[in-house]
Amino acid sequence: MHRDTVVVAGGRPEPTHDAPVNPPVVLTSTYRGVGTVAEGDRSYARLTNPTWEAFEDVLAQLEGAPCPALSYASGMAAITGALSLVPVGGTLVVPRHSYQGTLQLARRWQDRGIFTVRTVDIADTAATLAALDGADMLWIESPTNPVLEVADLPALLRGARERAVLTAVDNTFGTPLLQQPLALGADLVVHSATKYLAGHSDVIMGAVVCASQPLRDRLHSQRSLEGGIPGPFEAWLALRGVRTLAVRLERSMASAAELAHRLQRHPAVARVRYPGLPEDPGHERAAAQMHGGFGAVLAVVPHVDDAAAVEELVSRLRVWTPATSLGGVESLVERRRRHHDEPGSVPENLLRLSVGIENVEDLWQDLRAGLDRLVDR
Ligand SMILES: *Cc1c(COP(=O)(O)O)cnc(C)c1O
Repeated sequence: MHRDTVVVAGGRPEPTHDAPVNPPVVLTSTYRGVGTVAEGDRSYARLTNPTWEAFEDVLAQLEGAPCPALSYASGMAAITGALSLVPVGGTLVVPRHSYQGTLQLARRWQDRGIFTVRTVDIADTAATLAALDGADMLWIESPTNPVLEVADLPALLRGARERAVLTAVDNTFGTPLLQQPLALGADLVVHSATKYLAGHSDVIMGAVVCASQPLRDRLHSQRSLEGGIPGPFEAWLALRGVRTLAVRLERSMASAAELAHRLQRHPAVARVRYPGLPEDPGHERAAAQMHGGFGAVLAVVPHVDDAAAVEELVSRLRVWTPATSLGGVESLVERRRRHHDEPGSVPENLLRLSVGIENVEDLWQDLRAGLDRLVDR
């Protein structure tokens, strides 16, 4: 089945007469049991829940995994789970422009002496491979948040495997419809399901997908102990969101591509980063490893480098919502450096645009009006 069909057909209840079409929200903390708890039994709801299982089945099918995904309370809880595989005293290699939460968490563990962190320019394949010497895990994000750099996934995943370095790919921006890291040799795929998978900015949830059952078993037992699990309703909302992932992405990506072209011709704009632009430094790689599109997040750097002027532009927008996050049906815009934790190498005036599913002309008129004012300054 094509992935566009899997998003609709996966994770449904057994097709028996009078069965519901959708999985129910199973609200229970425990399960009836008699005698010895056998392998695979549900037992207690910190270990598993039938509503999560439906979501975990669809996500595993989409990512091409041999075993179900694991649901987590948030993308960060999923990242915490995946990073627990770095041994004490080990070394983690992480992109300098990773999601800032990933970087902060890794640095805290480094500060506590748990493991060492090496940051790399993930678009620089030779430098990243060189940094893998003696490392235990390579963390990859591609495209990166918020600079939209593209990593050479096949080369990095192959290189890491040759050096026996475990690999995890944060596939939040790509989504399994565009990019399947397991097929390229990744050990783990991590998602903030909060973003494209759930897609409506109404739920916080995360997931890890594993390349093998033994890896899943390790993470499952860790998750069961740490307890970073989602509520059943969150899993149900995420699954409900997945049903429309293909059509939402199709619309958002078409609009993102159109806006990227128009933005880079606007006199107030110095630079647009979007892997779909033929002149983007990441375009060739993205074209080779992303299938069916380049995502729907853009980074825009205006000529004006004064943060206050850029904030004023944002405050005047009417169709775009000024908010952090991405991947929802509504278009969001944010000057990333308003967060003190955002790396200093991200330009002060960089705007991250998450393109939603509104009419593209409305999105453009709103942006253009704001940018025109910057030219007139
Ligand atoms: C938002 C995000 C996260 C964190 O996910 P939460 O669900 O907010 O905890 C991790 N990685 C990327 C790429 C993200 O965009």
